[in-house]
Amino acid sequence: MGLFAFMDPLYLGVTLFSLAISGYAAWKVRSAFRKFSQVPTMRGLTGADVAAKILQTQGIFDVAIEETGGFLSDHYDPSHKVLRLSPDVFHGTSIAAAGVAAHEVGHAIQHARSYPLLQLRTNIVSLATISSWASWIIITIGFFFMYMAKNPTILYIGIILFTVVVFFQLITVPVELDASARAKKLLYANVILDSRELDGVSKVLNAAALTYVAAALSAILQLLYLLFRAGLLGGGSDD
Ligand SMILES: [Zn+2]
Repeated sequence: MGLFAFMDPLYLGVTLFSLAISGYAAWKVRSAFRKFSQVPTMRGLTGADVAAKILQTQGIFDVAIEETGGFLSDHYDPSHKVLRLSPDVFHGTSIAAAGVAAHEVGHAIQHARSYPLLQLRTNIVSLATISSWASWIIITIGFFFMYMAKNPTILYIGIILFTVVVFFQLITVPVELDASARAKKLLYANVILDSRELDGVSKVLNAAALTYVAAALSAILQLLYLLFRAGLLGGGSDD
């Protein structure tokens, strides 16, 4: 076994599989969004209008709606209470624009209602961001020490840090599914879309959810790989 994880055929397999599922999910969300961007809604509200209307019906008056640059760059910023919508969504009057805008409002509602998983996710976002790059540096050094000095301590520290990243990716999935569920319910309840239009919203939002599932799945696979190579899953460390 070589010193570096990237020279390992097993790691190469994990990486290629992760790239394949995340690439597929990214392609799926882009194609669903592009398709339903071409389909106008009956009521013709823009994404910004949809967001404003739903926020108002939910009694949320302290969230601003702004336009931001980029493609599918839409997000809710809980620290500033701002909904940032990409130009296609902000100005768009399509099923895709309404769906994405309502999904982002879903996050603002989670925040306003103190949805526990969103709070947890917000609390650990900085730690997870630092861990996501620091863990691989420590893990690489850790593998070196394990093979050269038979001391796995640094590797274990790296794996613990990487576990934070996996946990973050895992809790992101239910947070995203919940925001989409709220979006569909509110689009229908507020007569913004009819049930046929909601089918299109579901296709766009399900594809978006798939990207988070793919990210979580590849993080879990990488963790399993690390545990296996660290000898914590019944061997793999001593060849
Ligand atoms: Zn989301």
